[in-house]
Amino acid sequence: MIEKVDPILAESGWKKIEWVRLCMPVLSALEARFEKEKPLAGLRVSVSVHLEAKTANLCLLLRTAGAEVAVTGCNPLSTQDDVAHALAARGFRVAARHGASMEEYHEHLCETLSIRPHVMVDDGGDFTAILHGEHPEYAECLIGGCEETTTGIRRLEAREKAGALSFPMFAVNDANSKHLFDNRYGTGQSVWDAIMHMTNMVVAGKNVVVAGYGFCGKGIAMRAKGLGARVIVTEVDPFCALEANMDGFRVMKMDDAAPLGDIFVSATGCCDVIVGRHYDVMRDGALISNAGHFDVEANKPDLEARAVEVCERKPGIICYRMANGRCLNLLADGRLVNLAGGNGHPAEIMDMSFGIQALCVEKMAKEGRSLANKLYDVPPEIDREVARLKVEAEGLGLDVLTPEQEAYLAGYEG
Ligand code: NAD
Ligand code: SAH
Repeated sequence: MIEKVDPILAESGWKKIEWVRLCMPVLSALEARFEKEKPLAGLRVSVSVHLEAKTANLCLLLRTAGAEVAVTGCNPLSTQDDVAHALAARGFRVAARHGASMEEYHEHLCETLSIRPHVMVDDGGDFTAILHGEHPEYAECLIGGCEETTTGIRRLEAREKAGALSFPMFAVNDANSKHLFDNRYGTGQSVWDAIMHMTNMVVAGKNVVVAGYGFCGKGIAMRAKGLGARVIVTEVDPFCALEANMDGFRVMKMDDAAPLGDIFVSATGCCDVIVGRHYDVMRDGALISNAGHFDVEANKPDLEARAVEVCERKPGIICYRMANGRCLNLLADGRLVNLAGGNGHPAEIMDMSFGIQALCVEKMAKEGRSLANKLYDVPPEIDREVARLKVEAEGLGLDVLTPEQEAYLAGYEG
């Protein structure tokens, strides 16, 4: 836990937090209500989400709602220390450090759960794993939790199917207000923001290989095209492959794409998408990056095994020199490039994702005791409420169905 706050870091972090808050109108609207109603009064909430400025605003909102909040990151490379210190300076229990070792990262997760939360917010399933394995006692007061990302939800589904889920969870990722915007437009923008910032290279004219054409992959490919890249998509799902084809991208096997790509971005949630035989045929100077869960999409042991020399070219860019002199550059250690090498999704996007999170925490606190130990969809009224608040904040005009139109749409004649 951060016990000694660095005031200079804390000041820099607080400026970031206040800046992004300007673009988070959904959270501001909820803040006004939570301030009055205090729906989380007397409850403890543990949060494990990439610890940066937008997440800090979620934590502040949960505290405004009356909760005692403990927070850590969900990836050892995405924590921004100044933001962590800014929260610690304001009395939050913060256990996180940028660049923590895996052991330290794990300790931070455990420490954050040791408050014995009533509700927890997870991103990727690390909290869930600890509460079911190493420290079930930390779940003694737990009503339930909320999961932020696709891979975390796949794991909860597997756990539920095996009858091994011991508390209710909301599948926040699957809400429309989350994945349609966060996974697609958020990842689409922040991946390129990070890659361009890290490499200072042009994207136009490059061959970009996007592995996985799900919500994240669609956003990454769309923005690469907009930046002037020639985009190739690899997939395992025939529908997604057809969609990519009709969206105007070349679709091929990774075996065929590997020798063509200048920049690789994986977004599959799967392991071993890029392996040894692909490294063997990649171009000199190829950039390899990942936007999916964890650091397993590009196989690192295969890369290391082939390298005759490994050196850091620039912070976050490791060059693996092959025996024939080719240099393959791995960005952000193969972890989520947009978060480990950048600021993650923009504020306007996280405004919606965290609006859903905050409302689901409230719902879990109020009604979770009557739920079974299952994975639940986000209630549609919460999803619509966040979309409605966002539409209002964006000043978009929405037509309203007339009673005649409603009757027409509901009928089967005419
Ligand atoms: P998704 O399920 O919509 O899409 C994944 C796609 O990858 C699917 O179409 C699937 O067919 C394809 N795929 C699976 N294995 C593959 C393989 N071996 N080769 C090629 N394609 C393969 O999921 P999503 O919402 O797009 O999320 C993808 C990953 O990104 C998940 O791990 C998720 O947790 C993570 N995510 C990251 C961010 C971020 O900020 N970087 C944001 C949201 C989600
Ligand atoms: N622990 C896993 C989690 C995958 S993270 C890992 O580190 O590999 C993917 C999630 O990060 C997405 O679902 C998205 O909602 C979230 N995210 C993206 N940008 C973010 C940001 N700026 N702040 C907090 N979370 C962010």
